[in-house]
Amino acid sequence: MDLFEYQAKELFAKHGVPTTPGRVTDTAADARAIAEEIGKPVMIKAQVKVGGRGKAGGVKYAATPDDAQTHAENILGLDIKGHVVKRLLVAEASDIAEEYYISFLLDRSNRTYLAMCSVEGGMEIEEVAATKPDRLARIAVDAVKGVDVAFAREIAEAGHLPAEVLDAAAVTIQKLWEVFINEDASLVEVNPLVRTPSDEILALDGKVTLDENADFRQPGHAEFADRDATDPLELKAKENDLNYVKLDGQVGIIGNGAGLVMSTLDVVA
Ligand code: GDP
Ligand code: MN
Repeated sequence: MDLFEYQAKELFAKHGVPTTPGRVTDTAADARAIAEEIGKPVMIKAQVKVGGRGKAGGVKYAATPDDAQTHAENILGLDIKGHVVKRLLVAEASDIAEEYYISFLLDRSNRTYLAMCSVEGGMEIEEVAATKPDRLARIAVDAVKGVDVAFAREIAEAGHLPAEVLDAAAVTIQKLWEVFINEDASLVEVNPLVRTPSDEILALDGKVTLDENADFRQPGHAEFADRDATDPLELKAKENDLNYVKLDGQVGIIGNGAGLVMSTLDVVA
């Protein structure tokens, strides 16, 4: 299950990863009220489960509550790559000196976990990965040893983060690893992880995918389920402990295992 940014940041806060304070809402009037409450410039951020919100006009800086309301009006209802914006995160805007990239993920092809880190984070990270792969460090993580602060520092160094922020970044990267492991995630990505002008490290964005196979030991994750987006038939199946996959066509296959069902589908096809 993919989480919204605001949900990812709830998990970050729970594990002590520094982020900016904020609240989620579905109206422009409320966005204004939250901005007033925060009492500082805010970011208005579309909550959709797709990347590239910034480039699509879904992330805006608002200096005043008036601006917050105007941006909120414009962003609500916006279609970002087929995802219509229904909710906004209103978060205190942070000053940014530099933008970094950090992620932990399951590396299926190498049968291990992988950390990726780059000093060149921000909205052009795909470009960096494609044209300057040496600027994006990829470091295997041993599932048994995990990531302590010393190893987190090595990850940050490999990503070419500057010396002045290595210690602070290492502490945060280690906490992101705790999110990854303790929440049974298959992806934890922060882009940008920012350096503020006073050399603080903050997670300004968050992308988390939770492994649903671990739901039985993560009762707290039930609240993240996105009931609006789930197909009603799939929801009903889940309530009855059935795995249901909606496909096109008029023939249904009922079976007792994913492999058997896929093979039967092939035979029928
Ligand atoms: P994405 O485009 O969906 O990945 O959305 P992000 O949350 O990463 O925001 C996109 C960009 O907006 C970031 O790369 C930053 O440059 C900028 N941004 C996000 N939050 C802040 C903030 O608090 N202050 C400032 N100045 N810029 C921000
Ligand atoms: Mn981002």
